[in-house]
Amino acid sequence: MPQKNPALMIDLQKIYHNARSITTLCASYGIQIAGVTKGFCAIPAVAEVMLQGGCTMLADSRVKNLQKLHEAHFDVEHLLLRTPMLSEVDEVVRYADISLNSEIATIQALNRAARTLHTRHKIILMIDVGDLREGIWPDHLDETVQAILACDAVDFEGIGCNVGCYGGIIPSPENMQFLIDQQTYIEHTYDVKLRLISGGSTNGLQLTASGHMPKGINHLRIGEGILLGKNPIDRHPIPGTHQDAFRLRSEIIECNQKPSVPIGERGQDVFGNIPEFTDDGVRTRAIIALGCQDVVRPYSLVPADRRLTCIGATSDHLILDMTEAIPPYRVGDTLEFSLDYTSLLAAATSEYVHKEFQ
Ligand SMILES: *Cc1c(COP(=O)(O)O)cnc(C)c1O
Repeated sequence: MPQKNPALMIDLQKIYHNARSITTLCASYGIQIAGVTKGFCAIPAVAEVMLQGGCTMLADSRVKNLQKLHEAHFDVEHLLLRTPMLSEVDEVVRYADISLNSEIATIQALNRAARTLHTRHKIILMIDVGDLREGIWPDHLDETVQAILACDAVDFEGIGCNVGCYGGIIPSPENMQFLIDQQTYIEHTYDVKLRLISGGSTNGLQLTASGHMPKGINHLRIGEGILLGKNPIDRHPIPGTHQDAFRLRSEIIECNQKPSVPIGERGQDVFGNIPEFTDDGVRTRAIIALGCQDVVRPYSLVPADRRLTCIGATSDHLILDMTEAIPPYRVGDTLEFSLDYTSLLAAATSEYVHKEFQ
């Protein structure tokens, strides 16, 4: 069977290994891991190795992905990461056991939906500890907790926070302790027991590994760490993980020697920029069948062959300088690239990218 290109190559064994490595570290600090599946659009075969690797839950930001996981019948709780839309509460209750929440109106709508479907729904209340994405502001804590406790079909399962993604705030002993202090206050004031204290995502791993994660944080939601083995704070490798569990491959469709500066009057490129060029003389270039419709930001891909450099990308073409590669590549050869999290997300989402398991 001929190879299909472009392809996202997925090494299940490496993902298993990464999950095992991270869940083992976290378990020694009393922290359970929800495997975050959005980076690969919740392909069940990948979710399965996350669970074999020790994740105790599956989490995604899209209800549609949770539905896919639900239909694969995994015997674990499914967690919705993005605050639900009011228009999707029925599906949320159907396909998510737990959801992260920050709006009273939404929690009440989930309560009504759960009641109507004769089921129960668990919520984790998100509290903003300073990163300024989702989460209630702490001065609304009492009001929100009282509204949750007044719901008869919603269980108050825990509290959580998100840091790093928007404000770039790093998890610290102080902001994590702040979350634990909210737990202490809630449990004492309202006579409830919170089961999950969810301290964040992959960016909480470094604090955990250093032994400085405050005791009481018992849950993290990990995507990038398991999938790409990288710490989002500085994109350094996480010890004991592989960085190449996912690779992207495509095929050379043109090889040519051309000048390095375009000839003629210059307007905007496809992205609305006026490109700048330096004159490096005549260079050997390759075009591969891969573009923004496959990975959105193809120029962020790193060629496995370090003699190649990406010099431009449009919707369907990625142009590489391969002057340093001797003997040169030829039409029909394939090239491999490593991806960042954004490109992985895009490649997994694109219907034009074939998914290939190894
Ligand atoms: C995507 C997401 C995560 C996982 O983030 P990683 O950096 O991939 O570990 C965790 N929590 C929320 C709310 C998310 O949306």
